Amino acid sequence: MALSSSRSSFLLLHQRFFMRAVPVFNSLPRRFTAKSSNPKHTVLRSISIQNHSSSPPPLPTSAAPSPATVSGGGYRWKPMCLYYTQGKCTKMDDPAHLQVFNHDCSEEFRLSEGELQREHNPQKFDYLLVFDLEGKVEILEFPVLLIDTRTMSVVDLFHRFVRPTAMSEQRVDEYIENKYGKFGVDRVWHDTALPFVEVVQQFEDWLVQHCLWEKKHNGRLNRAAFVTCGNWDVKTQVPKQCIVSKMKLPPYFNEWINLKDVYLNFYNPKQEARGMRTMMEQLKMPMLGSHHLGIDDTRNIARIVLRMLADGAVIPVTAWRDGGSSESVNFLYKNRIR
Ligand SMILES: [Zn+2]
Repeated sequence: MALSSSRSSFLLLHQRFFMRAVPVFNSLPRRFTAKSSNPKHTVLRSISIQNHSSSPPPLPTSAAPSPATVSGGGYRWKPMCLYYTQGKCTKMDDPAHLQVFNHDCSEEFRLSEGELQREHNPQKFDYLLVFDLEGKVEILEFPVLLIDTRTMSVVDLFHRFVRPTAMSEQRVDEYIENKYGKFGVDRVWHDTALPFVEVVQQFEDWLVQHCLWEKKHNGRLNRAAFVTCGNWDVKTQVPKQCIVSKMKLPPYFNEWINLKDVYLNFYNPKQEARGMRTMMEQLKMPMLGSHHLGIDDTRNIARIVLRMLADGAVIPVTAWRDGGSSESVNFLYKNRIR
């Protein structure tokens, strides 16, 4: 597939994602404002929270219908077009292509009317950046889904494959064949992967577009935080990759939310959920896509986050580095997955 990487087509693709993927977003401005456009949310945000952890909703005993499991609704799960997620699909209007690949994954994130209408606790963050890296030696994939906690919807995504910098070409080929060959996405990886330094630059441009960060202040995120499944991604792998790529650790990677810890302290399950799969089993949610394809894992983690927001969970930062030191990390909860 030929690539088109011009910035204008990238922006256009993302606008299309917004308009088609998330109907609720149609009523929101292109750039978000701090106040919710929904008066109900504005009111809810002014109510102080009582101790939400005293009576969390019980975990379900039978599977709740979700758009991904309801048949007859016209929704059929398809793999995402991984050129599209990176702003590089050249078959935007090709019906045969769209039969096989998805450009719009909004259905899998849609909460039911009942879930949307429950009373929800105000959140510390207006936006959550669900983030799930792939690549144990060097980072190979950098997928981020942006959740608006006020509308409880996914409003955009940032996805890049990442090309290792400290490996021979032969080693990279073996690594990619081994990791992505089984999902049939090794070709798209080779067509699109960029060095980590470039991916971070593009990610920062994307953060700026969404008013989530300002380069000149070079500080924390604005009204947003990363959500990961475990501490490894932000605690260990990003600093490790920054050393390999000879760059400074960006300051917005100094705090994050480990969803497993929030889940444990909110639902208090009889059996500890040590990973995404167990959390989804306990929530009776089907796991979609290919496990360990970063974009698919990120989608599944985002579905857990939305479900927890709908259940009334407040999602705080659970881990932060002492004075930006990559060695020393503080944790919010005593009770956490180790
Ligand atoms: Zn496509």
